[in-house]
Amino acid sequence: LPQKNGPVRVQSYNEELEARQRHRLHLQQSIRQAAERGEMSLVFQPKLSLSTHRVIGAEALLRWHHPTLGPVSPVEFIPLAEASGDILSIGEWVLDEAMRHIAVWREKRLLDDAFHIAVNVAARQLARHDFADKLLARLKEHGIPPYFLSLEITESGILSDMHNARAQLARLAQVNIAVAIDDFGTGHSSLAYIKTLPFSTLKIDRAFVMDLEHKEVDRHLALAITQLAHAVGCDVVAEGIETKAQADYLRSIGCEAAQGYHYARPLPADEFYDWCTRWQALPPMNNALES
Ligand code: C2E
Ligand code: MG
Ligand code: MG
Ligand code: MG
Repeated sequence: LPQKNGPVRVQSYNEELEARQRHRLHLQQSIRQAAERGEMSLVFQPKLSLSTHRVIGAEALLRWHHPTLGPVSPVEFIPLAEASGDILSIGEWVLDEAMRHIAVWREKRLLDDAFHIAVNVAARQLARHDFADKLLARLKEHGIPPYFLSLEITESGILSDMHNARAQLARLAQVNIAVAIDDFGTGHSSLAYIKTLPFSTLKIDRAFVMDLEHKEVDRHLALAITQLAHAVGCDVVAEGIETKAQADYLRSIGCEAAQGYHYARPLPADEFYDWCTRWQALPPMNNALES
């Protein structure tokens, strides 16, 4: 029996691998026109100040609804788009779409000076020598003061050209566009980046937040990351907060802001607007009494 099973299993394993490769290729081919076909949209996840409990902004997250496959996760399609280079055109679409919403929300007075929309930007986009200039031109076209926008650098590829990245980030800092290093402590994000590049914010990855209550080592790591960020003049946003206990601990160690299902999931634009209006109408909360 073992001899019979061996080859069969190998074959089905190969078939599965081929099927997966076909699936990836199919996605990679259909992603190119996905935005033009209206299959892409943005959802917005609120970010809150841990000390005042007010909404300080939101992160824009990309969603793709494939005509036959249905929703495809960015965890799956962003790396494909980064590998093929399609992330450049997709990234431009994301920026335009985010600015379109910022303009609308400004008109509705949802946004004030302390409220910004963060957009995820791939290392490959930042590698363009005209990234910052094009971004500023775009903001002008949309009639938006730059500080309403902030960026999160998603680190799935090493920043290959540090010199250029620094030039781009410096240009953005000049006009008060805050830039965060995303998923800090995972993947390729490294101490070299915060040492050499002008980031204003460090995002603690969900990996360090999810087991805070049960693992002392994770509490130590979250504390160390927060102290490290403060030591280099960055503020800290924790992502993936799902419980009050996690929020309480992060507040106690001086983490400035939070994001996660405990507060709100990423929401379509109109739902996000309604959520914010409801939330901001609540009386300012005494954090000691938070429930
Ligand atoms: P990210 O930038 O670190 O975004 C945070 C991810 O965590 C989002 O997943 C969000 O939906 C999820 N999340 C937030 N709060 C919670 C929570 O409390 N619990 C759990 N389990 N998850 C939570 P999403 O939307 O699937 O995005 C995944 C990644 O895809 C993002 O990670 C980002 O790296 C990338 N991405 C998304 N949109 C864009 C984009 O427009 N451009 C680029 N370059 N990358 C994007
Ligand atoms: Mg992000
Ligand atoms: Mg993140
Ligand atoms: Mg993350």
